[in-house]
Amino acid sequence: MAKKQFKAESKRLLEMMINSIYTHKEIFLRELISNASDAIDKLCYRALTDEGSGLSRGDFFIKVTADEANRTITVEDNGIGMTAEELEKNLGVIARSGSLQFKQEMDEEKKAESGADIIGQFGVGFYSAFMIADKVTVLSKAYGSEEANLWESAGADGYTVTPAEKEGHGTLITIYVKQDTEEENYSEFLDTYRLRGLVKKYSDYVRYPIRMNVSKSRSVETDEVDEEGKKKTKWETYTEEETVNSMVPIWQRSKSEVTDEDCVKFYKDRYFDQTDPVKVVRISAEGAVSYKALLFIPREAPYNYYSRDYEAGLELYASGVMIMDKCKDLLPECFRFVKGVVDSQDLSLNISREMLQHDRQLKTIAGNIEKKIKAELKKLMEEDPETYAAFYKSFGLQLKYGILADYGMKRELLQDLLMFYSSTAQKPVSLADYVKAMPEEQKYIYYACGDSIAKLDKLPQAEPIREAGYAILYLTEDADEFVMNMLGEYEGKQLKSVNAEDLGLESTENKEETEKKEEQNKDLLDFVKETLDGAVAAVKLSHKLKNSPVCLTTQGPISLEMERYFNTVPGAGEKVKAERVLELNASHPVFAALQIAWAQDREKAKKYAKLLYFQSLLLSDATIEDPAAYAELVSELMV
Ligand code: ADP
Repeated sequence: MAKKQFKAESKRLLEMMINSIYTHKEIFLRELISNASDAIDKLCYRALTDEGSGLSRGDFFIKVTADEANRTITVEDNGIGMTAEELEKNLGVIARSGSLQFKQEMDEEKKAESGADIIGQFGVGFYSAFMIADKVTVLSKAYGSEEANLWESAGADGYTVTPAEKEGHGTLITIYVKQDTEEENYSEFLDTYRLRGLVKKYSDYVRYPIRMNVSKSRSVETDEVDEEGKKKTKWETYTEEETVNSMVPIWQRSKSEVTDEDCVKFYKDRYFDQTDPVKVVRISAEGAVSYKALLFIPREAPYNYYSRDYEAGLELYASGVMIMDKCKDLLPECFRFVKGVVDSQDLSLNISREMLQHDRQLKTIAGNIEKKIKAELKKLMEEDPETYAAFYKSFGLQLKYGILADYGMKRELLQDLLMFYSSTAQKPVSLADYVKAMPEEQKYIYYACGDSIAKLDKLPQAEPIREAGYAILYLTEDADEFVMNMLGEYEGKQLKSVNAEDLGLESTENKEETEKKEEQNKDLLDFVKETLDGAVAAVKLSHKLKNSPVCLTTQGPISLEMERYFNTVPGAGEKVKAERVLELNASHPVFAALQIAWAQDREKAKKYAKLLYFQSLLLSDATIEDPAAYAELVSELMV
């Protein structure tokens, strides 16, 4: 049969694997055992839901053998097996997980070490065998099929699939171990004790027995007799098949048996993360629904987290049998970063995946998990702010999206987990911390939106708040202002933008005085508005400004930040426009200058009006649509 070529991209990855400088070649065994275990899971699920299959859980096994003389290692399972088509499909193409695309995105210098990264992050699975093999064969018979097939490949130049003989269903993988070289010792993997150690190290929790022939020695009596007439003994070696792994899944074990470090190791292996999670969450629930859960809150977002490729969900087991590997219904969307396993004996194995959505027990579990994760995150925030900050850097945006989604349905759940930079604390604080630090007379929680903390620190309209000694939350992310609008208030305190007409800081006398002045200057203000020719919706005298001559605020529901945001979203139809309000400081000398110009030289007054508007745009980071006009104006006034 003609040799078939691997798909082009697979070939490159395979070459990389074969020539990899990756030092942890030993993970090949973990990968093959994990595939074997998955294959048994698939059949086990089928067998248990399909009466009359005659199979029971105790029938399944994985067997690992080493043959030093022939330099082979075999990994055998009696799982679901593969048909000829499946051998083609599954083993002729690699990098379905998007790992290759990811690799291409990495920069050149990183490429040298990328082999390690890819294995670490995605688990290239089966192909890791080529790190230690000249040749790999896969003999497989699909459950329920009469035919077996042999897949064979000596590396990147291709593979063949030919009909073959095999007794039962399942898969037998044979690795033909490479000859040792000066740098590399491959023979170590032919040592049964070494392999046994690897099974213990990486695959102890696999739920099916992993069997190995282990050579042992014992003393036996001989026919010879010693001086005292007793039979002499001698040592004899023999081999015995034993189950190497402990088989109890880690999530079924109690805290006294399994440390958090063990769980972290499990997490990193299973979910391909090189970074420790910020939190290990273990749940052992009894009552209306009994279940065990082992959950992890990651520290870093996977590279595709905020893209459509990322698939959320928890692994779901019913009485130790895997039902689904990404069960979305167990996690609310806002906590989709959580990884882990849920195992319950109260779920029916026969339940179909569509029905699962409506399952009452499942809903109860999901509800508990949501509460628990929130509680753990809150605890982390209070007890270890530094770690929480690292988490928040990765997933804060997710929490904010969570508040905005579904008309704010999850706002109660999530509002305590938010953090914003506080102008007085000069670090991110929670809303609860903000409220706790509020002086008694402070009525509102203040916030300002902009693109950097440095710029927000100088925002003119925030002067009175700063002067009163109150903290302002600086919002620098696109979603922030929408989040504030959705929340509206926190612990009974209204959230207030520094742009708001009334900041709640002014005495009534002050207000009345400003109103009076406004009345007196009405014609001038109208003149400014007219001069600006529709650029602003209103011109008024400010209650807020102390030291600055001018600022730009908005009226109506759309702020400058929202305007900017909406107009950068691709595909958002018509441009939205914030209703700009130009606020002038009546007690500033600049205003006096404007008054004089208006009385004496209308052309000059027009220039001043425009200049003030340009200034206000600059201060609020809004775009100046005609920078040339601005430059010209400044030049004219200088000459
Ligand atoms: P992954 O396990 O990440 O999907 P692999 O390259 O390790 O990637 O395996 C590719 C596919 O080949 C698996 O998804 C599975 O469908 C199939 N496969 C691998 N090993 C076995 C096995 N022992 N029994 C049945 N199918 C297997």
